[in-house]
Amino acid sequence: MESCIFCKIVNGTIPSYTVYEDDQVLAFLDITQVTKGHTLIIPKQHVEDVFSLSDELASTIFRQVPAIANKLNATFHPIGLNIINNNKEPLQSVFHYHIHLIPRYENDGFTLSFHSTSPSQEELKSTLDEILNEQVLT
Ligand code: 5GP
Ligand code: ZN
Repeated sequence: MESCIFCKIVNGTIPSYTVYEDDQVLAFLDITQVTKGHTLIIPKQHVEDVFSLSDELASTIFRQVPAIANKLNATFHPIGLNIINNNKEPLQSVFHYHIHLIPRYENDGFTLSFHSTSPSQEELKSTLDEILNEQVLT
């Protein structure tokens, strides 16, 4: 896609620091380096987000995640690693599907906080019913 910044990285119009590459997948350093080693994994094919990702392409991309995570782990020895994927505005800022691999370090300043709630059994059951009653996967 002509206006897409990640397509430009795929075709070499914009330079990037390649961590891994094969026919269908590219992994490169995120320009903002939220933490040291912050890496993006993308399909070379332009796909906007998880909602338009085929099973096949999802499997092709995700099968590279453990090896790249292990490479970052072996290189930087982080205390852990977050895998994040933002979909749709306002969460997503580049509309070419990508997975963030973010190595984590002591006091790295990165905050990812879950606001926990305590639903009752009835609320959990009701939420599950809503999901199971949706016909999209059946
Ligand atoms: P999102 O907010 O869509 O989940 O993440 C998009 C990411 O793409 C951001 O972390 C941003 O730093 C990164 N990014 C945006 N433009 C470029 C670029 O030109 N090169 C690289 N390497 N990363 C980019
Ligand atoms: Zn693209």
